[in-house]
Amino acid sequence: MEQRIKGTTGLMMLIGSPVGHSGSPAMYNFSFQHNNQDYAYMAFDIKEDQVGEALDAMRLFKMRGANVTMPCKNEAARFVDELSPAARIIGAVNTIVNENGKLVGHITDGTGFVQNLREHGVDVKGKKMVVLGAGGAATAIQVQCALDGAASISIFNPDDPFLERAKNTAEKLKQEAPECQVQVFCLEDQDKLREEVEKADILVNGTLAGMKPHEDTTLITDTAMFRPELVVADVVYNPEETRLLREAKEAGCKTVGGKGMLLWQGAAAYKLYTGMDMPVEAYRKFQEQNEEK
Ligand code: NAD
Repeated sequence: MEQRIKGTTGLMMLIGSPVGHSGSPAMYNFSFQHNNQDYAYMAFDIKEDQVGEALDAMRLFKMRGANVTMPCKNEAARFVDELSPAARIIGAVNTIVNENGKLVGHITDGTGFVQNLREHGVDVKGKKMVVLGAGGAATAIQVQCALDGAASISIFNPDDPFLERAKNTAEKLKQEAPECQVQVFCLEDQDKLREEVEKADILVNGTLAGMKPHEDTTLITDTAMFRPELVVADVVYNPEETRLLREAKEAGCKTVGGKGMLLWQGAAAYKLYTGMDMPVEAYRKFQEQNEEK
């Protein structure tokens, strides 16, 4: 490291709170070193009311890039100079690129999800989708899949405050991606869920269900809904294989876990910062070796 950090080294950062658990510094610093790029990456604990100051510092220190995590994603969208189409629709950013003093906000959660599916041989274009959830992850997926040409998206959410957000997303997508049919239903309407899943090509869990410490939870309790042609994806990455995925796999479905989405949303940000592909395979190997220790 002491040989890598020089007078010319550019700083990039993660902001949010908490950030101490984040894997981003390890992933980006590994990638910069691997690709011989003169950057270093640090995480800073920044609360929502400090986002404006943090972005001023980004300008002042001429940082090329910043990732934004909870709870700062919506606030950051207000302070950047320009938004990507998906970030504008969602009103949140997780990636900021400094284009010669102009801060451009992007959201790569959705592109990470789409790329992860592609890595598993699944293209969202023309597909009928059912997405469970209407929080940060689910909304990013709904918007990106609609922009990328999904034929329809049926959103199911419990009757909680997120349901309103789902209706809002559907309204916006009517304007922004009119070819994609977006409908919103209550998750409590199990007959409707069964009907929509039966017609779907891809089913996605975009909620917290199944995440540690609630590994026993799944929103698809009737496993008869699974059929081998259905692709089942989960945003949850801890555990890597949720109960939903395990039961879908047992029924013969192709399953896609959330860990790849996490990796690919980071890789999408890396590409925006550097114009280069992140060394994903090398980083995966590095992670595996370190997990074994
Ligand atoms: P959020 O708080 O923004 O949204 C929570 C969603 O879960 C809402 O739709 C809510 O209605 C629903 N929900 C909450 N409790 C529920 C329950 N008991 N039953 C059914 N639905 C319930 O959260 P988020 O930031 O969107 O995160 C959701 C999940 O996605 C988390 O597990 C998170 O770790 C994961 N995530 C993964 C990635 C990735 O790259 N793989 C990225 C972001 C988030």
